[in-house]
Amino acid sequence: MSQPIERIKTLILGSGPAGYTAAIYAARADLKPIIYTGMEPGGQLTTTTEVENFPGYPEGIDGPTMMVQLQQQAERFGTEVRIGMATEVAFSDEPGGIHRVTIDGQTTVEAETVIIATGASAKYLGLPSEQRLRGGGVSACAVCDGFFYRGQEVAIVGGGDTAAEEASYLAKICKKVTMLVRKDQLRASKAMQNRVMSIPNIEIRFNTEVDEVLGEQVVEGLRMVNNQTGEKEDIAITGLFIAIGHKPNTDIFKGQLEMDPTGYIITHGKSTKTNKPGVFASGDVQDKEYRQAVTAAGTGCMAALDAERYLQEVESTQEVG
Ligand code: NDP
Repeated sequence: MSQPIERIKTLILGSGPAGYTAAIYAARADLKPIIYTGMEPGGQLTTTTEVENFPGYPEGIDGPTMMVQLQQQAERFGTEVRIGMATEVAFSDEPGGIHRVTIDGQTTVEAETVIIATGASAKYLGLPSEQRLRGGGVSACAVCDGFFYRGQEVAIVGGGDTAAEEASYLAKICKKVTMLVRKDQLRASKAMQNRVMSIPNIEIRFNTEVDEVLGEQVVEGLRMVNNQTGEKEDIAITGLFIAIGHKPNTDIFKGQLEMDPTGYIITHGKSTKTNKPGVFASGDVQDKEYRQAVTAAGTGCMAALDAERYLQEVESTQEVG
């Protein structure tokens, strides 16, 4: 016998600061939210060590602890947290319509409102040698994996604030950090530029890209190419960190939700409303500008309030009709 399809008021996809904050507000408003955690329970903050800029933690807090506490806070008000990933969605176009979301390709959940908080993921270069050596010395998170390269020589790709921040972090642990920047200048803020330039064991190579990551099972070196002269050069490294930006996790919503050309969900006005009634987007999935834990949490709160108001409007229309 097939399982009956579950019908709920509020489904939240994603378990970063946006998802959990939406859950706290939705649960307190008695929307009985169910949250599916996605591939990375706790979101990007679980790959961070110290979070020093979230208001209310004067001594800072480590990312994974903060996410566990957010989960506990959401559960305290009755949120149900489930491990699982949305694999398909069918959003209704009608106000008051039911949205169908498939989880892990097998379970269907029907929801009156959906809050999307699926975040963003690190981008990779896409080279075959890079992909082969992911987990074997290629990483997109210096803070998570830098520790393994203590006293060794590593390289980092990217010239933005993330790359600059991670290069300075790695420089404290590693013997030498080679920073590959594809332009003749850094994109990072002036303060971060000054910081990386003042650290003696960071060498910045401008106009330089990765030609190939060397090594069979683990990273043993890097073939760099100067994109002005075409000149190639090999260096010996044991770790390669990729810090070239993020991609919003919106592939499953393509064709259903309005997005900008880079795949970020478009929200309407000063709200978290998408183009589908009852579907709201919060956190990094709709924000390429600020991308902070505290702004993600703020929009998670907004999404829950928007969902609550939407349900009230639908209810009052049905009563009148
Ligand atoms: P950015 O998009 O700002 O920078 C990405 C960098 O990667 C750029 O230097 C870009 O080069 C380079 N790049 C992109 N694709 C490739 C490629 N295929 N090969 C080689 N290089 C590539 O991303 P960030 O993650 O650094 O920052 C994102 C946002 O978060 C920014 O707004 C940033 O200011 C903010 N941020 C703030 C921090 C802070 O304030 N402490 C810390 C970290 C991030 P190019 O310049 O040529 O495009």
